[in-house]
Amino acid sequence: MPTPRCPRCGFAFAWDGRKCSHCPPPSRARQLWESISRFEEQVNSTKDITPRQLLAIAGGCLRRVWDFLPEPVRDFPEACERGPEALRKHPGFREQPAMLNRDREFQIAAEAIRTALTRNSIPELVRSIAEAARTCRGAVCNRDYPQREFFSFPLPPELERYRADVDNNMVPSDVGNPRIDVRYRPLRRDASVPIAAAYQHLCDELTKYNEARSRLAASEEAAQCEMVRDMQIYPEITVGFDPAWRTSTAVAMARGFVESRDFSAMPILADALQDAGCEDPEILEHCRAEKPHYRGCWVIEMILADGK
Ligand SMILES: [Zn+2]
Ligand SMILES: [Zn+2]
Repeated sequence: MPTPRCPRCGFAFAWDGRKCSHCPPPSRARQLWESISRFEEQVNSTKDITPRQLLAIAGGCLRRVWDFLPEPVRDFPEACERGPEALRKHPGFREQPAMLNRDREFQIAAEAIRTALTRNSIPELVRSIAEAARTCRGAVCNRDYPQREFFSFPLPPELERYRADVDNNMVPSDVGNPRIDVRYRPLRRDASVPIAAAYQHLCDELTKYNEARSRLAASEEAAQCEMVRDMQIYPEITVGFDPAWRTSTAVAMARGFVESRDFSAMPILADALQDAGCEDPEILEHCRAEKPHYRGCWVIEMILADGK
């Protein structure tokens, strides 16, 4: 087997399969763009985002929580990815799907997507899709970190017997939900030392829990951004797609990936494109990079842009 070459400069021995030590690193601006971690910022930083792509993004966000999507919206991601026409035909588009109270967040996501389709301007559409994405992130957080009562956190054995005293020594409050948000229920100043210690311990546990939850939300948002970047090429770059690269092999592979949602053979697609004469480094690198691909991937879209 020949040594794989850098798709950009063609050097074989500077290429470790992912990075090239010979090519200059990407510009600072591009690095920044590729590290955006706020969903709306990522969507808004792309130049010509289309309603179809925005729906595919919403579908992808829903799919990331597919395992716990309620029955009535389980085929929503599919309909979103297939585009506005398919979504309009979806029964859930006309009627609010009947869902249980605990599925409220998916109801909100489905509603946001339905609303998106009725929007006439891209900024309005982006707002609806961003709401759907935010709701999906919330669903991820609620799955792993459901809201917990202040008193459900563990105490060290020596402080355990003060648990009830903590409750009795907290200032009563009618603001918010005092059982969940301890900020509204401070401890009385005259509470004893062990009670204060137990109170502080519960506060610390709650803080740790909330911080872990925020980290999960942030990582889910970063993953959503990664998905947007799979569908949108860095705006400063233009790729000319030569129809000659659209061989029957490449088209069949691309179709297969989209149908099966299995993109693991993307590097082989790069070889097929290269065989057809494609040396575009952006395209080849995108196919060979170890990153997930989604329906709406820009390389796949270019291959299938014709005769679809
Ligand atoms: Zn190189
Ligand atoms: Zn891709």
